[in-house]
Amino acid sequence: MLLIACPYCGNRPETEFRCGGQAHIARPADPAALSDEQWSGYLFVRDNPRGVHAERWNHVHGCGRWFNALRDTVSDRFLETYKMGEKPSRTESTEAGSTPVKSTQAEARA
Ligand SMILES: [Zn+2]
Repeated sequence: MLLIACPYCGNRPETEFRCGGQAHIARPADPAALSDEQWSGYLFVRDNPRGVHAERWNHVHGCGRWFNALRDTVSDRFLETYKMGEKPSRTESTEAGSTPVKSTQAEARA
């Protein structure tokens, strides 16, 4: 069984969690100034990378809290989980077939 590390509770079975989609999407500062196409892009268009992807997750059958995770979409392996408002120690990689993260950027953030 896949274990996911909730930043608040520790490792728990994957059946306790629900994915909330792509993380780090900023709401436009002035939505009324956007065109319909820009607004629909904000609402519906999301990345679908092959590789490391930042996602929001909810520990719905546990503490109920939201957190972020870096997950490799090829291997379904969780590389890191972190609380809302925090930054990951690694970076996303959307290059096809490249599961390793870019170590130079990860070191720069550390
Ligand atoms: Zn939890």
